Amino acid sequence: MALERTFCIVKPDAVEANKAGHILAHLEAKGFTLVAFKKTTLSRATAEGFYAVHKERPFFGELVEFMTRGPVVIAVLEKDNAVADYRAAMGATNPANAEEGTLRKLYAKSIGENAVHGSDSLDNARIEIAWFFAGSEVTAL
Ligand code: GDP
Repeated sequence: MALERTFCIVKPDAVEANKAGHILAHLEAKGFTLVAFKKTTLSRATAEGFYAVHKERPFFGELVEFMTRGPVVIAVLEKDNAVADYRAAMGATNPANAEEGTLRKLYAKSIGENAVHGSDSLDNARIEIAWFFAGSEVTAL
């Protein structure tokens, strides 16, 4: 299995609930290395750009309001098979369908306020990491 990096956002609901550290510790316990992480607040333009693929969806406005209402913690995670393994650790988009022990089962409130984001492919992971972290903040893979 190849060493990969993926991109994580601890969303505003989980940061507000003081769960950001719990979530990063949960991921470290599962073997992910934190290559880089920081707390920041997404601008409307950043959130709209990040979720542009969903701009025609009825929940787009709600999603942008949610993602900009308070700070998030963004992180680069590294592990063998990191993209798929982090998606598995996150659980289903709707926490009602998420497996026991997943981050969304543990920390998410609803399909909208679902605690964490994770890249859905290696290509998107590269794009998302480069969008949020400068080369000087991320050591070479
Ligand atoms: P993900 O890859 O599991 O995060 O899921 P998607 O790419 O399908 O959706 C992106 C994000 O949009 C989700 O994580 C939710 O925060 C939000 N979202 C998806 N579906 C809904 C919905 O039906 N209602 C609301 N309010 N938000 C949604």
